Amino acid sequence: DTIGADLDRAVAAHPERDALVDVASGRRWTYAQFGAAVDEVALGLLAKGVRKGDRVGIWAINCPEWVLIQYATARIGAIMVNINPAYRAHELEYVLERSGASLLVASLSHRTSDYRALVDQVRGNCPELRETVYIGDPSWEELIAGGTVVPYARLAAVAAELSCDDPVNIQYTSGTTGFPKGATLSHHNILNNGYWVGRTVGYTEQDRVCLPVPFYHCFGMVMGNLGATAHGACIVIPAPSFDPRATLEAVQRERCTSLYGVPTMFIAELNLPDFAEFDLSSLRTGIMAGSPCPVEVMKRVVAEMHMEEVSICYGMTETSPVSLQTRRDDDLEHRTATVGRVLPHIEVKIIDPATGVTLPRGSAGELCTRGYSVMLGYWNEPDKTAEAVDPGRWMHTGDLAMMREDGYVEIVGRIKDVIIRGGENVYPREIEEFLYAHPKIADVQVVGIPHERYGEEVLACVIPRDPADPPTLEELRAFCEEQLAHYKIPSSLRILGSFPMTVSGKVRKVELRETYAEQP
Ligand code: ATP
Ligand code: MG
Repeated sequence: DTIGADLDRAVAAHPERDALVDVASGRRWTYAQFGAAVDEVALGLLAKGVRKGDRVGIWAINCPEWVLIQYATARIGAIMVNINPAYRAHELEYVLERSGASLLVASLSHRTSDYRALVDQVRGNCPELRETVYIGDPSWEELIAGGTVVPYARLAAVAAELSCDDPVNIQYTSGTTGFPKGATLSHHNILNNGYWVGRTVGYTEQDRVCLPVPFYHCFGMVMGNLGATAHGACIVIPAPSFDPRATLEAVQRERCTSLYGVPTMFIAELNLPDFAEFDLSSLRTGIMAGSPCPVEVMKRVVAEMHMEEVSICYGMTETSPVSLQTRRDDDLEHRTATVGRVLPHIEVKIIDPATGVTLPRGSAGELCTRGYSVMLGYWNEPDKTAEAVDPGRWMHTGDLAMMREDGYVEIVGRIKDVIIRGGENVYPREIEEFLYAHPKIADVQVVGIPHERYGEEVLACVIPRDPADPPTLEELRAFCEEQLAHYKIPSSLRILGSFPMTVSGKVRKVELRETYAEQP
């Protein structure tokens, strides 16, 4: 189905149930109201001359209008281009220019940035950009008002022209390993993935899903928004951008049953000084994805946040995104050491990256996935697409993984992050998990830095629990001694206050490597 048709089904099935709640502004929509609001925006876009296949940029922090634009563009067959809210002029121009967006919908500002000034700065270099509509500004009201003159029947006529295999989004990757890549995804790709992710955690129209993750990213817009609406559940927006306190307040006030986040978000919520005061008893499940979750964090999420059924997902933007997921009754071991089993209608294999030969269960190699979820391609980049998706339609993920005998998959790390020290492969995640248990360490990242003799050396970047009492290199080495092979033990240490992060909440190891490439 198309995303528009699926929304119609949800509206018809339970018009009176909540579809969308914005906690910050107190605004809320039932499914009937949400369907009508999406139609209004869709008519407004038609009035602006947006046609099937046209690109519409969305450059905004989380807000209800983001969600309306997501469904309204899908309804009329436009291709929504999601633009990172952290972007500044140069990057904004790059995305607008590359995608050929004719309309941009933007927030007025974010943090210290005046979006309007930034758009004005780049407009001259984006010849295809005709107009910008700002959320929370008269231009948004004008968009809606403009649509009132378009006959309602146009929506049905436009919908009849659409196919589920049409592109519906250009979604950008996190940019963890370099510049983000724009994956072109169809209705079929993301609607099905949202459906399966939601079904695996058991969503019904009773569920209320708290989404502190950015809509800009597939975690928010597919696993979150589409995952919820495909099952008639309610989307709850706790705040415009991640705020641990606002998140827990939203869960408590809206009696949310599900909470999403990358591990760093859960760590921030658990570390609030008054964490214990929040009533989180309505929570049953949630999704943790994006990067590996330390065991201690998972234990607390299950025990102290009541998320007994919390699900781990593994995926990537290019595959809509999820291909592996834990199931509701999986035990703690499977939820921490693995990322679950393959979802229905998706295939996975593990290959030797050098030869392409498929490896047996129990051996680590590059994870490849295939199925309905694989993207149409990187937008206008056939060469990059061919590097990632082979002629057999297998997506090469760039991740190292191992499938156990029972079909559960362990992620070993990213191929790009493997440290090769004197010919030995060192997997940062193994060392990070180990160092995480050190009492003076709040968070840790391990990267390889160039070394004359060994090729690469192991650097530990540590955020100390107490900034006044950070661990010394000698202490760390003593902690690792007898526990880790000598070549895995960090030879240098940096004490940091924070890590460079992507908007989706992942640590940019590439930046740590670049910053600390030079030994002091
Ligand atoms: P870029 O491709 O721009 O460098 P990115 O790969 O982080 O950024 P995303 O598409 O957001 O962009 O993330 C997909 C990647 O996230 C996967 O390839 C994998 O490395 C990592 N990942 C996703 N889920 C998990 C998980 N549950 N455990 C470990 N790693 C995960
Ligand atoms: Mg990637």
